[in-house]
Amino acid sequence: MNGLILPSSFTPLWDPPANVAAGGYWFVFRAGKLLVTAAAASPHPPGIAMGERPPLPVTDRHFIGLLAGVGCWAASCNDIEPPAGFAFEALRGLFYRLPDNLLAVAGRGAQIVEFHRTHRHCGVCAAPAAVDDFGRARRCQACGEIAYPRIAPAMMVLVKRDTAHGRELLLARGTRFATPIYSALAGFVEPSESVEDCVHRETFEEVGVRVRNLRYFGSQGWPFPHSLMIAFTADHESGDIACEAGEIEDAQWFPLDKLPELPSWLSIARRLINAAIAEVAPDHPLLRR
Ligand SMILES: [Zn+2]
Repeated sequence: MNGLILPSSFTPLWDPPANVAAGGYWFVFRAGKLLVTAAAASPHPPGIAMGERPPLPVTDRHFIGLLAGVGCWAASCNDIEPPAGFAFEALRGLFYRLPDNLLAVAGRGAQIVEFHRTHRHCGVCAAPAAVDDFGRARRCQACGEIAYPRIAPAMMVLVKRDTAHGRELLLARGTRFATPIYSALAGFVEPSESVEDCVHRETFEEVGVRVRNLRYFGSQGWPFPHSLMIAFTADHESGDIACEAGEIEDAQWFPLDKLPELPSWLSIARRLINAAIAEVAPDHPLLRR
């Protein structure tokens, strides 16, 4: 279970290799939604269109890599109806339904398509900007300003403490969470800030506690819309929980036998939480999907 991490069978590329068949997978987006085969109500699992050509007229196309030797294209289209047998669906709605490897490649495609859609003009002089650097960037035709896809680093930290009654995890519910879950703390890195300083600042701002023993866990791109989550674990050092108004609806120390609803298995948050559970309770029922 790799979550939204690109599978090892995927090679990110910007140009189709000469020896690869034309076409392949078509990750076509309409206003941020992905074209999939089989609509939500269909008994068949959704898939991605394949073929030499996209299954509907597209306005721009970008080669994004090879999945098990098959070309992958990201494309966007105008506000048109999907062909028969297809539907446009939000990526998040495809969690657990679209195979993980296709979902991860779709995440890359979504970010590349969105970058090109929102950078057709120069941010300095507003002249048209053309695709540049083999599709990686856009360059202004008037002043030469070059723009690359925006990737926003964000820290995530799971704070834990080991008490006489066992391990407890500090999990919080953000005011903007769409589903009734609790998760690790997270926040965006600010200009010139280190990720480590961001962990300490955000943890204190969001729940009023100080942490120590920061340890790197892993990272994962999160295309909603363009985050890079950099995850850590930390031990509680001091302070009682005090939720930041407007940001955190609730935060609590949860013992492992009273854990709340947790994030999707596709998120690094869940892998982080699972790892902290597995350290002390490898047979915990929540570790079985
Ligand atoms: Zn310009």
